[in-house]
Amino acid sequence: MTSFKISTYEDIPVETPVEEIPSLVARVKAGYTSYKTLPLSFRREQLRNLYYALYDNQDLLYQTLMQDLHKCPHEINMMETFQTFTEILWLIENLDDLAAPKPIPGSPLALKLASIRLTRQAFGTVLIISPWNYPIVLSVLPIASALAAGNTIVYKPSEMCEHTSRALVKILSEALDPSVFVSITGGVPQSTAVLKLPFDKIMYTGNGVVGRIVARAAAEHLTPTILELGGKSPVVVTATANLKIAARRILWGKRANAGQTCVAPDYLLVDKKVHKDFLAALKVAYHEFNAGLTAESHDDYSDIINGRHFARIKAYLDNTKGSVVLGGNYDEKTLFFPTTIVDGVTASDSLLKEEIFGPLLGIITYTELSEAVNFITSEHDTPLALYIFSTSKREQNFILDRVRCGGVSINETLMHLTAPQAPFGGVGESGHGAYHGINGFRAFSHERTVLSQPAIVESALNVRYPPYSLSKSKQYNLMSGPPANPYPREGPVVVGGVFKQLLSKGLWVVVLLVGLVYSRKFW
Ligand code: NAD
Repeated sequence: MTSFKISTYEDIPVETPVEEIPSLVARVKAGYTSYKTLPLSFRREQLRNLYYALYDNQDLLYQTLMQDLHKCPHEINMMETFQTFTEILWLIENLDDLAAPKPIPGSPLALKLASIRLTRQAFGTVLIISPWNYPIVLSVLPIASALAAGNTIVYKPSEMCEHTSRALVKILSEALDPSVFVSITGGVPQSTAVLKLPFDKIMYTGNGVVGRIVARAAAEHLTPTILELGGKSPVVVTATANLKIAARRILWGKRANAGQTCVAPDYLLVDKKVHKDFLAALKVAYHEFNAGLTAESHDDYSDIINGRHFARIKAYLDNTKGSVVLGGNYDEKTLFFPTTIVDGVTASDSLLKEEIFGPLLGIITYTELSEAVNFITSEHDTPLALYIFSTSKREQNFILDRVRCGGVSINETLMHLTAPQAPFGGVGESGHGAYHGINGFRAFSHERTVLSQPAIVESALNVRYPPYSLSKSKQYNLMSGPPANPYPREGPVVVGGVFKQLLSKGLWVVVLLVGLVYSRKFW
């Protein structure tokens, strides 16, 4: 039985020599035009290899993530490997259906006998640039989707989690065909060099500043992009919320990976009426989750990725006008920074300037729900995630209708992005494009219409050929005139007529019951 277990990744260079990049990219471009990825059996085998390569090297990835981020295996399993394995298996199982042409219904008369199909065709060679915070899932999910859709891939992992990136490069290179997959390691020089080359699609996951650099470089070659960015994801806690559950779920969402999560709760908007009780609930949950957690002993808690990010987060805390109610006992030497709750922050606070992307959580209070909504839409519009803690459907809908964002969890944090078939992606400042499940396959393939017209309709089509004449015009209008318009110029636009309205509103049940009662008179 083939094992993909690797003994070392020391042979993977920290930085790919910049001058080698064009020839590496050319290799997988040639791989695409060799049409090797056309057979679904080939793609399935690649996905199968990808699965086993990751499976066989889980222990190594635990080690490297411990080195890079002090991330614990339980969190890696919950937040990275579980989803990664599930997604690869789902793609293998559903590839036939995903790749199968889909008939397009509703043809006009001239196309009645034609076959019209939607086919999904690989873009070609795609570039995938990944970040450091969840390096396995944020690399492998895009790679698996791109492979399933039949693309060849250039993969650029993050230089910030050097050990995991090099290990991943080695593991993936062992598993995947070298003519369809190539990796480029390193930082800005390598990214800059690779972005100069033309690709057929680029997926970038990371911060918005670099997102803009990527989008500009892509525009040079008219390359479409998927930008998975971040933002300040708000949490609204209304007076109807179950405060104990809210406190636990918010803290868990913030504590994961020491807050270095793109969808981590970034700030809290809490109804004044429950502010005191909510703080009390936060304190209980905080002490339960963090009992005995210190700089010297924090086995299940990630470190901050590096000194630069530590200094950035520390500066937010040093400059806050709010008061620290929980945490704050960081240790610069070990990069340990516990979840820290800061109460009484306002719009101008240091905690409300940029995405925190760390363990700080500021609390703002509001009196009316509309105040909370206005705050989000005017200060930090289009965040990647929105969290609503409320048991009132009216309140939930009030917020949902007014806040634009990538995705939402209600009475929960983070979990919406683990729903395997749900699109995951941002909007506006948090990016564009989505993946996961069928959405990933779609993201990496062009939806192409394929029409095939049979010869038998030729005489019917004669009407379209020149020379044009009045009789051809009349014939054409008879065959394909515009459809009758059922909508009057004024008044409400009612679709489908009275009967359809009744049906859609379930009124038919009432009509049926009334009919039955009435008909009893005649029994
Ligand atoms: P990072 O520093 O690892 O950068 C991401 C990638 O961009 C790396 O591969 C890096 O080499 C490359 N890069 C850096 N500078 C570049 C440049 N000048 N030109 C081209 N490429 C360059 O990661 P990061 O940006 O610190 O990640 C954190 C951010 O990413 C946060 O804003 C977070 O919210 C966001 N994020 C979003 C998602 C998502 O799925 N939407 C997931 C994770 C992180």
